[in-house]
Amino acid sequence: MTPTPVWRSSFSSLGPAFFTELQPTPLPEPYLVSANSAVADQLGLDLNWLASPAGIDAFTGNVVMPGSRPLASVYSGHQFGVWAGQLGDGRAILLGDLPSADGRQEVQLKGSGLTPYSRMGDGRAVLRSSIREYLCSEAMHGLGVPTTRALCVTGSPQPVRREEIETAAVVARVAPSFVRFGHFEHFAARGQTAELKQLADFVIDGYYPQCRTSDRYHGNPYAALLEAVTARTAAMVAQWQAVGFCHGVMNTDNMSILGLTIDYGPFQFLDGFDPGHICNHSDEQGRYAFNRQPNVAYWNLFCLGQALLPLIGEQDDALAALETYKTVFPHELQACMLAKLGLTDAREGDRELIENTLQLLAKNRTDFTIFWRRLSRFVEGAAVDTVRDLFLEPKDFDAWLPQYLDRLPGDRAAMTAIAAAMLRTNPKFILRNHLAEIAIRQAKLKDFSEVEALLAVLQAPFDEHPAHEDKAGFPPDWASQIEISCSS
Ligand code: AMP
Ligand code: MG
Repeated sequence: MTPTPVWRSSFSSLGPAFFTELQPTPLPEPYLVSANSAVADQLGLDLNWLASPAGIDAFTGNVVMPGSRPLASVYSGHQFGVWAGQLGDGRAILLGDLPSADGRQEVQLKGSGLTPYSRMGDGRAVLRSSIREYLCSEAMHGLGVPTTRALCVTGSPQPVRREEIETAAVVARVAPSFVRFGHFEHFAARGQTAELKQLADFVIDGYYPQCRTSDRYHGNPYAALLEAVTARTAAMVAQWQAVGFCHGVMNTDNMSILGLTIDYGPFQFLDGFDPGHICNHSDEQGRYAFNRQPNVAYWNLFCLGQALLPLIGEQDDALAALETYKTVFPHELQACMLAKLGLTDAREGDRELIENTLQLLAKNRTDFTIFWRRLSRFVEGAAVDTVRDLFLEPKDFDAWLPQYLDRLPGDRAAMTAIAAAMLRTNPKFILRNHLAEIAIRQAKLKDFSEVEALLAVLQAPFDEHPAHEDKAGFPPDWASQIEISCSS
C-alpha cells in the first residue's frame, strides 16, 4: 500500500487536440460520504488515507496529487438521435491512471468544476445523483454487468442549483478508459483523420491488441475494432435486458468504447415488468424505453461505424462488422434468459419458452426481480404458490407452468443443482429507486449508514443478507412518485 498513489496519464500522450489540461475547482469543507474498499484495494490505495483529510482533499479535487496531470477531454455526439456537435467532459476531470491487477485504471472526478466543455452547465454534480451513480455502478459490477466503477463519493456544503437548491458532491469513478463513441465522432465530423487514426490506434494498442493481428477484413484493424466494440456492446445490452436495467440516456457520448455501462443519470431497474418502460422523465418520445435499448445500441454503433469509415475504407467492411450485432445480441440474450430459467443447454422450443415467460410477466406486470428469485427458490423446492401469488391473474401462470416444468429434469438432485445456479444468476437485490432515495435522504442529514449498507448488499446481490430483507421487497407506493430526470 502506498500512502499516496503514483499517477501516470496514458491518455495525455495523445496530445492537446484531445483535451485541455486544467485544475479541478476546489470545494469548501469537503467530507467523505463513502469509500469503496473493493476499488481502493484494486488500486492499492489505503482506505485510512482515503478517509483522511488528505485523501478527501485529493478525491474532491482540492489538491492535485504528485504526477497527476488533470485534464478534460473533448468529444461530440448524437443526443436523442440528433447531432449535438461538440460536447466534452463538462464536469468530469481525469486525474490519470493507476496500476492494478486488472491493468491500468483511469480515475476521473465527476463534479469537480468548470471545464472548457461545460457549455451552460456549472461543472458540478449534486449529492443525490452522485450517490446514485456510486451505488449503481457498484450494483452493476456486483451483478456481473460490465461497468465503470466508483472509488468514493465526497460532498461539500456548497449549494448547487437544480430544480431546487442542493449541495455539491464528487464521485471518483474508475475504468480502464473513459473513451466514448463520441470521441471518434468528434474527429470524424471535423475531418481530422490524423487525430481519428491516432485515437483508434491508442484504443487498439491499449485495449484491443488482438485487432492488430486479426486477418479478418483484409487485415484492417479498424474494422476489427468496430467488430470487437460491436460484440462487447451487444453483450452488455443483453445483460441490461436480462437484469431489467434501463439506462435512460443512451446518447452516443454515453457509450463506452470498452462496452462498459457508463454515465449513470436517470437510470432505473424495472420493478413490475413493463417492456415499454421509460425511466427518464425528460425522454418524451420514449426513445430510450427499456425495450428500445437493443435497437438504440445498434443505432449508436452505426454512428461509430460511420465515424471509423475513413479508417476502414470499405463501407462493406464496416457494415459486415456491424452485422455482428445481429448474431451476438440475440445469442447473448438467449444465453442470459436460459440461465435465468435454469436451463444450461439450448433446445428447440426454448425461444418460445422465453417469449412466453416475458409475455406472462408483461401481462401481469410481475416484479422482474422478485419473480426470478422466487422461481429459483421454487425449483429448489419451495411451494409453487410463492411464485403463483405474484400474478394478478394466477391462471396465466398456471397456463405457463407446465411448459417450464417439462423442460426441467425430474430428479431432485438435478433440480437442486439447477436452483443453485439460478440463485447465482437471479439477484435478490437491485438498486431500486426507492432504496437509493432512502439512502440519499439520510445522507442529506449526514447519516451515511444507509449508503454503506446498500453498497455492501449490492456488491453481493446474489447472497442472502438476513439483516436487509427489507431491501429485497416490493417498492412502496411512494416509489412511483420519484421522478428521475436528466437533472443531476
Ligand atoms: P449527460 O447527458 O449527463 O451525459 O451530459 C451531456 C453533456 O453535458 C456532457 O458533455 C456533460 O459533461 C455535460 N454536462 C452535464 N451536466 C453538466 C454540468 N452540470 N456542468 C457542466 N457540464 C455538464
Ligand atoms: Mg454523459
